[in-house]
Amino acid sequence: MISVRIEARHEDRAFLIASCPFGGECKWSIWKREASGAMWHWDGSIEAPTISPSINCHSCGQHFTVTSGVAE
Ligand SMILES: [Zn+2]
Repeated sequence: MISVRIEARHEDRAFLIASCPFGGECKWSIWKREASGAMWHWDGSIEAPTISPSINCHSCGQHFTVTSGVAE
């Protein structure tokens, strides 16, 4: 099971941090404004974030979606 959390950086951006099966964490920049190109859109929720599109981690191979705070 993947656990995720949000680390706010600025009013319109944050890091999404996911637990990594190899130990440690994987981290992505996410944006509250409209996503374009290779960006992830964040709905702005810290407690129950929704991120789109899905995330495919090239470091650890996890592929998951984050919907209302649930990563699967
Ligand atoms: Zn990873």
